[in-house]
Amino acid sequence: MAQERARAKGGTLILRNEDIDATRFKLEFVSQMIEDLRWFGLHWQEGPDCGGAFGPYSQSERRSFYVAALGKLGAGGFVYPCTCSRKDIRDAASAPHAEGKEPIYPGTCRNKNPSTLNSQPSTRFNWRFRVPDGEAISFTDGNCGPQTFVAGKDFGDFVVWRHDDVPAYQFACVVDDAAMQITEVVRGADLLVSTARQLLLYRALGLPSPGFFHCALMLDEKGERLAKRHDALSLRALRGQGKTPEKLRQDWAQ
Ligand SMILES: [Zn+2]
Repeated sequence: MAQERARAKGGTLILRNEDIDATRFKLEFVSQMIEDLRWFGLHWQEGPDCGGAFGPYSQSERRSFYVAALGKLGAGGFVYPCTCSRKDIRDAASAPHAEGKEPIYPGTCRNKNPSTLNSQPSTRFNWRFRVPDGEAISFTDGNCGPQTFVAGKDFGDFVVWRHDDVPAYQFACVVDDAAMQITEVVRGADLLVSTARQLLLYRALGLPSPGFFHCALMLDEKGERLAKRHDALSLRALRGQGKTPEKLRQDWAQ
């Protein structure tokens, strides 16, 4: 879908290697992934294999960009350190939350004095973005139309930098999309609410935001979500089962 959109608009397709989570990603998989995507018929003009004007194209090599952006958020008072565990948040969240959905962060650490952390250098914490409670974040999605999410109600203060010293995925993508001058982000409809969070990040960082185009999620034969993390459903596995790119495109177009 991203390729079709880029082609129709005379744009550039970019392959970014989102390997920020070192525990989930190993270097030898990258060349495999590139090979699989080429087999599937994708042709990108910028990427880790071919370079381009806005590299590097692997997130593991872009740490300095993320550190600088976090510094900017810190200086603007947009983030605060949070020492809550997942369990703390579940226990403290007053409103019942839907199954499988992250509970809204109850704001436990919002008004803690950050200097108290200095006395406990071993404390590991997340940096959390303070959302403007009650503000409606609206945008028009290229596929799904007008969208509105209310900060503090549809989503709460979210993590931008994890306690294991890795930037959160949605934060890294904002920093990269701006630096790489991305004009349109094409992704699954499950990330619509993430877009509202990311728009707040663009604003706080003083960066222009791209357009968004959210498509229906790809499902397998059992109606389950096709996720790249799911080994059994990876392109490589499907290819091993003898599926052709044409057949896969047909299946996913339905
Ligand atoms: Zn907290």
